[in-house]
Amino acid sequence: MGIRWFTHSCLRVLNYSSNLYYDGENMVKALILHGGAGSWRDESIRVKAEKVIEECTRRAWRILGESNNALNTVVEAVRCMEDSGILNAGYGSTLDLLGGRSLDAGLMTSTGLLGAVAAVKATRNPILLARIVAEETPHVLLAGGSADELAVLKGLPPLPPPPPHVVERYVQAGRKLLSGDLKQDYYMKIREFVYRHGSSYYTMLKELVNVYDTVGAVALDEKGVLAAATSTGGVILKLPGRVGDTPIPGAGFYASSTTACSATGIGEYIIRVMPCLRLDMEVSGGMDLEEALGKIMYYTEKTVGQDALGFIGVSRDGRIFYAYNTDGMLIGYMRDDGEIYVASQHPVKVKVV
Ligand code: ASP
Repeated sequence: MGIRWFTHSCLRVLNYSSNLYYDGENMVKALILHGGAGSWRDESIRVKAEKVIEECTRRAWRILGESNNALNTVVEAVRCMEDSGILNAGYGSTLDLLGGRSLDAGLMTSTGLLGAVAAVKATRNPILLARIVAEETPHVLLAGGSADELAVLKGLPPLPPPPPHVVERYVQAGRKLLSGDLKQDYYMKIREFVYRHGSSYYTMLKELVNVYDTVGAVALDEKGVLAAATSTGGVILKLPGRVGDTPIPGAGFYASSTTACSATGIGEYIIRVMPCLRLDMEVSGGMDLEEALGKIMYYTEKTVGQDALGFIGVSRDGRIFYAYNTDGMLIGYMRDDGEIYVASQHPVKVKVV
C-alpha cells in the first residue's frame, strides 16, 4: 500500500455515480515521483538519478506534510528534479540535433488549475512558468520565446549552460549516430529526415535513445486535492522545434477529482495513447483501477508497441500506482512503514502500490 495517513478516525466513503466519492472529509495524503521511463542500464547515471529521486521525494513529502497542499508539493518536487542537473529536465535537459535545448512542462489539479509551457529555451524552471500560466493568465499553453519573456517579467531565474555530462552525452550520441547502428523506428525516421536533408548524421546511440529521464510528480493532499506536474527537455537529438507530450494535458499530465497522473516516454507515442486521460476516463466511468491500468497498457502495446511509455499516479482514495512498458522506470515514494522506496526496476510493471 502507498501512503495513507488517516487523520480522521472515520473515513466516509459514499457511492456516487458508481464511483467512490469522498465527501469532504478526505484524510489521506499520497505522493509519487518519477525520473523517467527507459532502460536505466548505465549504473553511474542510475545511481546519481536515484539519489536525486530520493532527496526530492523526501523534500516533497515534508512539504506535503507541512503545507497540506498537493499543488505546492508537485511543483516543488518537479523543481527539485529540474534543479538536479542530473535528470532530463531544467538545466540537465538533453540537447537537440543542433545542440540546442527546448523545455516543456505542464501541471494540473483536480480543482481545475491547468497550465503548460512548450519549447522554452531560457527558463531554468519551466514548471514554475507553467504555474504562472495556470494561475495568472487565461491561457493553458504558452510557447517559445514569448513564454521565456514572461519568465523574465516574473523574475524567474534563467537557464544555466548545460552541465558537462549533458554535452558529453550529446557528443557521444553524435558519434554513434554516424556509425549507423540504429534500430528504433522513431530514430530511423529522424535519421532518414536528416539524411535526406544532406546532413552527415546517420544513426543514434541505442542506449541513449532508451533513456527518457523526464521528471514528474503526483500528489493528493488531505483536503482531497489531486495534482500532477511533469517537466522535460524532450528526447535527445530531437529536431529543433519538436514539442512532445509533456505540455499536453491528458498526455504528459492530467488531474481530475478521480485520478492524477504524470507520463514519460516517447512523446509522439504518448500523444497517440493519451494514457493519463484514458485512465481517468476509465476509472471515472467506474472501472477498477487495476483493471484500467491493464487496459491502458494493453492498448499501448497494441497501438504503439513496446518501449513506448510509462506513467505514475494517485487516485482520489490515496492509492498510488505506476505502469510502464519500457525496461525500467525510475520512481520514488514513501512506504507505509515510513521508509522511502526508490528504484528503476520493479518486480512487476503495472502496479497499484
Ligand atoms: N516524454 C518526453 C518527450 O517525449 C520525454 C521523456 O519522457 O523523457 O518529450
